[in-house]
This record gives sequence, structure tokens and C-alpha cells, in this order.
Amino acid sequence: MYNELQINDPELYKAVHDEVLRQQHNLELIASENYTSKAVLEALGSVLTNKYAEGYPGKRYYGGCENVDVVENLAIERAKKLFGAEHANVQPHSGTTANISAYLSLIKPGDKVMGLNLDHGGHLSHGHPLNFSGKYFHIVHMNVNKDTELIDYDEMEKLIAKERPNLVMAGASNYSRQWDWARIKKICDVWKCFLITDIAHYAGLVAAGLYPSPVPYADIVTTTTHKTLRGPRGGLILSKACYKAAVNRTVFPGNQGGPLMHVIAAKAVCFREGLSDEFKTYQKQVLANARKLAAELQTLGYRIVSGGTDCHLMCVDLRAKNVTGKEAEVALDKAGITVNKNTIPYDPQKPMITSGIRIGTPAVTTRGFKEAEIVEVAGYIDEAIKHREDEVMLKSIKEKVAALCAKFPMYPGFEK
Ligand SMILES: *Cc1c(COP(=O)(O)O)cnc(C)c1O
Repeated sequence: MYNELQINDPELYKAVHDEVLRQQHNLELIASENYTSKAVLEALGSVLTNKYAEGYPGKRYYGGCENVDVVENLAIERAKKLFGAEHANVQPHSGTTANISAYLSLIKPGDKVMGLNLDHGGHLSHGHPLNFSGKYFHIVHMNVNKDTELIDYDEMEKLIAKERPNLVMAGASNYSRQWDWARIKKICDVWKCFLITDIAHYAGLVAAGLYPSPVPYADIVTTTTHKTLRGPRGGLILSKACYKAAVNRTVFPGNQGGPLMHVIAAKAVCFREGLSDEFKTYQKQVLANARKLAAELQTLGYRIVSGGTDCHLMCVDLRAKNVTGKEAEVALDKAGITVNKNTIPYDPQKPMITSGIRIGTPAVTTRGFKEAEIVEVAGYIDEAIKHREDEVMLKSIKEKVAALCAKFPMYPGFEK
């Protein structure tokens, strides 16, 4: 598959090849990861990477853009259709840069932003003090309700009334329930603040109509294209038509230089795939698998934050098992199961230790796992956590995991 690398750069080739094998043989349960199609990989590996195309289709700062204009227009039109949006900017290099541009399309540095507390599921770009968002803006954080672990909209409104933010950033990296976008929009209208919704995690489910879409409500919607949406690593901004000029100007020349045309081509591929019936079927299974996994883990004595999931992910509270998120992550890794440690709401542990792990089903569902395999997966998770200090046992689980993965090969032919 990687002939040129193999011949000319064996050192680098080995790392890439080892990664192919790791992706083949391990259970990928990180909620933000997925396996793209070969068509997406083809677009990413195309000669479009050679082209400078600062500007937008029909208005570029470089010659020779007639082909990349076709590519970008396809990506824009497909994104608008997929999400029912009035405007799409497909140039953001990542979810974080999409958010930088989204904020600055609506507000100025120094303005007040309200977002979900990071320890309660929010994202770095929603106001972490070391992130640009925490440095550019005056951040006010909202929390989930301590008892229900759900967004408390009455509390949210009270906080907005008290703090009077210029903008509300709604959305999360680790919140398994539905957001009531319409309700948030109503509150924002009453208190006269802008609304950005970040659906980086939920985008695939939203596109398939299985999770509420914020597109009718939000001023701007941001997302990544590489999580549930199963495209290349990148960002996307959707907005009302009235913000088209502001969004485009803020992305380029505001925050980025030349667009990554090979990535934009891969986004176009991903949006076309997203419009297919096969993609809907896939997302239904992602959701069914997540619900099954949450139920199985509950049967095995684990507490799922908020009691379950309405999307592709869940946050597992490990305290009843006397194990920290950090310890569980290490043990699961040794068993060939990849997850990430994560704070639970009101976590007594520090962010580098945590009391929980976040688990998602997008990648294993792309592999072809259905409920029967998910039951097996839950069993392996529990065994690995139970036997976290028994290296022999962890190794034997790893072999069983590899055998399960071998039945559902990813990228056949890539191992050669
Ligand atoms: C993943 C994520 C992002 C950032 O995406 P990057 O491409 O890693 O910059 C932004 N917002 C949310 C809510 C996310 O989960």
C-alpha cells in the first residue's frame, strides 16, 4: 500500500505500518475517533495538497484554481444539503480553528462567553484558561445539575440573566444526552446574546436525523468532520445566510492562510457519503451499540453518568469498582482496548487521574460490530478492569480482542 515510503523511508514506513496493525488489532473505543472510507483516504493522499488557493471559489489570490474551485464548491453544496444550512465554510483546519473563527465572526476579544464547564463535558475551546478561548474572552462556565447530571436550563437562564454574556457556546465533548437547542435559542433571544452550537461529536447523528439539529436555531454551528461524521480530520462552519460574509472573512484572511484542498476534497467525499442510506443505517447502529454497551456495563455494576446515552458515547463512573480513570485506561490499553480517562461531573479526582472513562461506539460500528459483539466488548472491558494488575490475564484478553477484531478487518490489504 505504501510502496514509496517502504522503499525510501523505511524508518517512517515502520511507524505507519505499525499504526495500520494497531488499528486492525485493537478495539477503538475513543468516542472521537473513527475509520474513514478508502475514498476519503484517496482524496487526502491526492495531488490537491500541492495547490495554493487562498480565497474562495471564483475569488482566489492564485491562478490555476479552476479544479480546486470545483472541489470546494462540491464540498460547500453537499455540506449545506447534508445539514440543511444556509451557508457552509469548509476551510477550517480543525474543530478548534472553526471555533476561533465562529467566535470572532460574532464577538470581539474581551467579550463575555458562556460555555459548559470542561469537567462537566465541555471542550477546551469552550473556555479553558490555556486555550485561546480562555485568553481572548471573559469566560463564564455553566455546570450540569448535580443530581440529574443533565443540563439544567432554568439554572442556565439564571446564570445568563446574572452574567449577561455576549455569546453562549453550547455543545460538548462528553455529554451523552440531547441538548435542547430550541430552548437555549429562546433564552438567548430573551437575553440578547448570540448562540454558537458546537456539534463536533454529534454531527454524524445529526446528519442522519438521529440527534436534534441545532441548525434551525443557532447563529453559527461548528463541527469537526472526523468524529461521528467519519470524514478527514478537519473543521466545518455552518451559519445563517446573514453571517456568510463575516464567517468567510474571519476564516480567511482572519485566522487561516491557504486552505487544505486535499482535506476539503476528502470532506466533499464524506458529505456525499453522509447523504447515503448506508450512512443512516450506520448511525442507527452506532446509537443502538452505544445503548447496548451502556446497558451491559450497568448490568456489570458500572454507573453510567446521567443513567444512559442518547448518542454515540457514554461516561462511565468507576468509583464503585475502586479504580480511577487513569488506572482503567492503562489496564484497558494492555488488553488491546483503547479508551480515554475522563472527569465525571463534580469529580473528586484531578483531571490527570479522573474517576471515569469515556467510551464511544463510532469506530467499532464502522468495523461492523452489532449488539452481539458489543456484549463481548463489555465483558472484556470488565475483565480487564477486574484483572488490572494481572499481566497474564490482560495478555490473554488482548488475544481474545485481537481474534474478535480479526473477524471484522479494517482496510483489508493495507497490512502488506
Ligand atoms: C473535538 C472537539 C473539538 C475540536 O476539534 P479539533 O479538531 O481537535 O480541534 C471542538 N469542540 C468539541 C465539542 C469537540 O469535541
